[in-house]
Amino acid sequence: MKFTNSQLVSTTRISPNRTSPRNQPITKITPHHMAGVCTIEQFGNIVANPSRQMSANYGIGNDGRIILTCPEGDRSWCSSSPWNDHRAVTIEVSNSAYGDASGWPISNAAYESLIALCVDICKRNNIPKLVFTGDTSGSLTFHYMYAATACPGPWLKAHAQDLCNKVNAQLNAINNKPTVNNNKTSSQTTTTSSNKIKTGDLVTISSNATYYTGTSIPSWVKSEKWYVSSVSGDRAVLGLNETKNRNIQSPVNTKFLTVVKVSSKKTYTVSLKSTDILYATAGGKTKGNVGTSGIFTIVEDTTVNGVKYGKLKSGAGWVKLSTTSTSTPIKKGDWVKVINNTTYDGKKFTVYASKYKVLELNGKRAVISSDGKNVTCAINIANIAKV
Ligand SMILES: [Zn+2]
Repeated sequence: MKFTNSQLVSTTRISPNRTSPRNQPITKITPHHMAGVCTIEQFGNIVANPSRQMSANYGIGNDGRIILTCPEGDRSWCSSSPWNDHRAVTIEVSNSAYGDASGWPISNAAYESLIALCVDICKRNNIPKLVFTGDTSGSLTFHYMYAATACPGPWLKAHAQDLCNKVNAQLNAINNKPTVNNNKTSSQTTTTSSNKIKTGDLVTISSNATYYTGTSIPSWVKSEKWYVSSVSGDRAVLGLNETKNRNIQSPVNTKFLTVVKVSSKKTYTVSLKSTDILYATAGGKTKGNVGTSGIFTIVEDTTVNGVKYGKLKSGAGWVKLSTTSTSTPIKKGDWVKVINNTTYDGKKFTVYASKYKVLELNGKRAVISSDGKNVTCAINIANIAKV
């Protein structure tokens, strides 16, 4: 089974609370509610705590931004059911108000992101459509089917069929694209494609625009200028506003967008390994691993202390592009500290010792030991530093 993760995320913070790998293909999606109003940073902190014993594959904040906290290849601890969680991508969605009197609603931005994420999960995992049957046989399942819980709350429960309808409408639009390409639409397509919207462009939204899913765009969103955070076909995801104090991560058809400032940045692709380190900023703190091996798009690069870093298009973070740094190469017998607690095959491990001895070195693979004799694990040399 080959698994990928969504490129719709703004950030990644992998929880230790998970079972790796999942033992079933992905055939279900299980949205939960957070039973509170949360940012993705707050959610990331909660699931990073091992004592919480819970996680989800994704979290969606009240502002609609998405965080990856458990790779899709791993089983999250989310729905009180290993059976479900081995089969499902689980998504914890922030509420926009709390308390039973509120009905536990979620914001329009969070709902738009949930729809977009469900479409993306279905596409990548070949789930033909999202089906709510009211029991565990559907491809849309909920926490209350497995445990005595009110999750996902009255609002999401009441929107189960609406969510399926909106997701399936987009899946149908994607699947039917070649067959609806008659003369009329192809001339429209030509006009649309000449309106080239690129990642990083600053755009305005036309007054008659709706979100990609067809729901209405609030007037405050239409009144601001937005940076495009990703484009796929005619679907552009708007991210930060011009002053960069809001990030809506909402999809809009490119035909509704007008470029007011072209991105000056040239993008290019690089090949990365799943074990390559992700940084929060160029030269900044580490925040986990790339997670999936493959070709990634770099939208910006910068050099810090002689090391070139590139920013991933997904918004997941920065990666090292070259290591022309002056750091001393690691040799067999050296003592090193662990700077990223991920083993050579991508699993997390707990760092108990302040330094480890390199017992073996083969290319980028080092075998390290906390006591200088017994093997702790194999690790990529990018994840350790000489002490
Ligand atoms: Zn739940």
